[in-house]
Amino acid sequence: MPKPVYIAAALVAAAAFAGCASTPPPPIRAADPVQPAERRMPLQPDPQMTAGADRDLALAYIDATLDVIGSPAFAANLAGIGEDLGPIWLSPFGGTLSSEQVAAAYLGHVAAHRAVDSRLRWGSDWEAVANWTPDPGYVSIEIGRRHGERWASGNVVARSCAVNTLAHELAHTIPQAQGSFRYLFTDGKRWWATLRKRSLASYTIGAVAQCTYLDQHGARTDDSFPACVRRWGRNRFLSGACG
Ligand SMILES: [Zn+2]
Repeated sequence: MPKPVYIAAALVAAAAFAGCASTPPPPIRAADPVQPAERRMPLQPDPQMTAGADRDLALAYIDATLDVIGSPAFAANLAGIGEDLGPIWLSPFGGTLSSEQVAAAYLGHVAAHRAVDSRLRWGSDWEAVANWTPDPGYVSIEIGRRHGERWASGNVVARSCAVNTLAHELAHTIPQAQGSFRYLFTDGKRWWATLRKRSLASYTIGAVAQCTYLDQHGARTDDSFPACVRRWGRNRFLSGACG
């Protein structure tokens, strides 16, 4: 009886299309004001990275980035960026949330969207990717060595760019729902968001982290915080000035 199989396949295809085109954003409640994260995101160097310079660099880079993300300034900056940018897109084609809702989810205040375990390992060149599969059950964040060099350089602007990259990748560790292996903030076909001048959550989060880091080091040169976020990119990373 092949017919039921065809029907099932058609339903799956229709559901997949609907999921791609018009999934409504999740109902996220955000406190007013959005509070800083209560705990650090569960990011560690990959255990296969043995003791030594690579692991030390990864630890320092992770620590500094999580310090920024955990700061009261970051929570306020991310929650408040919507005043300038308006709604924040979950994906280039998906729905939108307010910046307060994005901040609440990213900072772990919504049980259904708490960051899953992730591990950082060094990749090649300028690679930056978050691989998420049910097996092995954690997100493998692969960051190209050039980003690590930016951190190791000690230059404040270069370091702020490295913070942007890792804070962005951590956006891809927030699940669509508890136990789901899809993530809430995606940026495949990012060019569409750039074309439509949409503020994309993953890039906006990265830029807010970068500008918060610059602020914390007295190195923000833009007149306003939103101007800084726009300069570094809200739907792509404008990294030309990273050094
Ligand atoms: Zn991304």
